Amino acid sequence: MSGVLRVDWPACRARGVCHELLPEVVDLDEWGYPLVRDDVPDELVTAARTAVTSCPQLALRLVARE
Ligand code: SF4
Repeated sequence: MSGVLRVDWPACRARGVCHELLPEVVDLDEWGYPLVRDDVPDELVTAARTAVTSCPQLALRLVARE
């Protein structure tokens, strides 16, 4: 199942782990906050789940595409 990454902005602390683990989908802005460029394709769902569980702030969620 492909999906979409959502960021809980009040929780995010711009630590960049999501970008390190999923550079194909997540860029960082100049302050280190994530810029989610694209939906998560099927082949990157496992990496996206790892990014979700690795975020030190638990500020990432992977949701089904609407
Ligand atoms: S890993 Fe979590 S806290 Fe760090 S930039 Fe990504 S969403 Fe924000």
